[in-house]
Amino acid sequence: MSKTPDAFARLTDALKVLPNVGPKSAQRMAFHLLQHKRAEARELADALEHALKQVRHCRLCNTFTEHELCAVCADENRDPRRLMIVHMPADVAGMEAANCHDGLYFVLMGQVNPAQGIDLNGIALDRLTERLQNSDFDEIVIATNFTAEGYATAYVLAELLKPLPCKVSRLSRGIPLGGELEYVDAGTLAQAVYERRQVKD
Ligand SMILES: [Zn+2]
Repeated sequence: MSKTPDAFARLTDALKVLPNVGPKSAQRMAFHLLQHKRAEARELADALEHALKQVRHCRLCNTFTEHELCAVCADENRDPRRLMIVHMPADVAGMEAANCHDGLYFVLMGQVNPAQGIDLNGIALDRLTERLQNSDFDEIVIATNFTAEGYATAYVLAELLKPLPCKVSRLSRGIPLGGELEYVDAGTLAQAVYERRQVKD
């Protein structure tokens, strides 16, 4: 039996870094790229290298950007007194598409996983704390998912925001239980923002 070439094994190993990709899927992907999609694989490698060089975190909201500030933070027409805290860049895109928030964002870049204990390393709490220290918000909207992870994250955020002299609100429950904002349609999302409920004065 021939040994798997080292380069193939290395690629398979590297692909296992992707979410939900185990050894078998990684092997299938590596085979597919090397056997059928060599030009596309080159493009994938180039795009990955380029993105790693170019993409960084916005100085204010922590989302991905190629500049010091993302387009939202750099937009002077946004309301600087309202902050919405979301999990992921995709949630910002969803809110923008739903056209229901004209303030600023903070992107946690993850969520707390209650199954692994309340591990706070998954979210950018340090950066959020820093952001809150340097600003003066009237209202902060917690816009986390309606999942176990989203609830756990919202709880941590509510505790963090308690001492602040501003209103804190959460999205209304128009979103189905277990719902991830990323997959909620624009109308439902907008309604959840408009009907948000205040959790702290
Ligand atoms: Zn930004």
